[in-house]
Amino acid sequence: MSEEDSAENGRRSRWRQWFGLGQDDDDDEGNAGASVASAVPAASGSYRDPTAREIWLPAKRRMLGKVADFLIDHDLEILPYTLGIAYDCVTGASPRLVQMILERTERGLPVTLRWLDEAVRDAGTAKAEDTLHALMEQLEGDIASFGDTMKGAQDATSEYNTALTRHVDSLHAASSTQATIAELTALTRAMIEHTRTMQGDLARSEKRAQELQATLEETRRAADQDHLTGLPNRRAFDHLFDRELREAQARKEPLSVAFVDIDHFKRINDTHGHPAGDRVLRVVAETLDRISDARCHVARHGGEEFAVLFRGLTLQQAWKRLDGARAEIAERRLVNRATDMPFGQVTFSGGLADVFAYPGKSAAMKAADEALYTAKESGRNQIVMASAPPGEPVRKAA
Ligand code: GH3
Ligand code: MG
Ligand code: MG
Repeated sequence: MSEEDSAENGRRSRWRQWFGLGQDDDDDEGNAGASVASAVPAASGSYRDPTAREIWLPAKRRMLGKVADFLIDHDLEILPYTLGIAYDCVTGASPRLVQMILERTERGLPVTLRWLDEAVRDAGTAKAEDTLHALMEQLEGDIASFGDTMKGAQDATSEYNTALTRHVDSLHAASSTQATIAELTALTRAMIEHTRTMQGDLARSEKRAQELQATLEETRRAADQDHLTGLPNRRAFDHLFDRELREAQARKEPLSVAFVDIDHFKRINDTHGHPAGDRVLRVVAETLDRISDARCHVARHGGEEFAVLFRGLTLQQAWKRLDGARAEIAERRLVNRATDMPFGQVTFSGGLADVFAYPGKSAAMKAADEALYTAKESGRNQIVMASAPPGEPVRKAA
């Protein structure tokens, strides 16, 4: 085994250990913590209890060491963004991300800033999906207990009705009226008591259902929203596309799809840092979002790429609207407010395709993507319309 290989193996086993997937060793947090927490020799030769600082300081140092090792091992820049990720990984706050990093390093692939962007987003979506799943389970449980309460109420009512009918019949027969009235009174009292309990159960069930519904709506929104720009994310875009496709077909309206990608965005990150890059991303997102309405949807498709859907506009009209947003951002002169340094001209390129000129949704997206590539190749800062594929059966809005 080469020196490089053994260094790499050492790194991987350290990773596994940190993330609690391997054997513990002497350097393990628990052991080290225990040794520090034991009695400390005092100046007089006797022993005293360790101070809080003596207990926590080594643990803090170890944590910082792990954060530093994470950034050094993966050759990542020291940025608030990467420090946050490193911290989440070593503290186990983001177990999904840790799993993804482990899989990637085990495949011998590098953990780059670019890959982390995608991974953080995917881990976030997966987390929202997990929460949604857990909520669904809770909801199922609550619905079941609500059903039990209702069943209990029904059973009690029908028991009461049967008993009441029986007593009314005997009351009719006018025999032992006194005893029947006494029984009826007792029965009614029991029923009142029962109804009271039931009312409480029902009110609790209703409150719980309302709380769950609110959390469910919030989680659904979070699962569909890109946290940086507030725009719909790729997953929401896929749903929007399906919905708009159905609408356009039903109403016989045109539909087009565009991909937009910021030009030379890497330079912005490299020159001004990732957080400044994030701010530029938000400005572009806001500019694009201004062209959206009930039939035009803008989403963050990933990284510095956006997707746009236009329903009810011809390809030319859609092009004009998107080109308006392109011109607007190209005319602005953004300044990095953290440093007062100008970002220079920020531009984006776009590719646009008529969805119904292609056999399906993915073929149309591919055409838009290829048109985007042409826009990049032709000098950027422009929107290119995909030409209809020759000989391709044109799928009309049925
Ligand atoms: P091109 O004009 O060909 O598109 O060049 P480019 O530099 O924009 O293209 P490239 O795909 O090489 O780089 C995209 C960069 O966008 C790399 C990645 O780090 C950065 N990026 C992706 N997502 C984010 C994000 O959420 N925030 C920041 N700040 N940067 C991001
Ligand atoms: Mg890109
Ligand atoms: Mg780009």
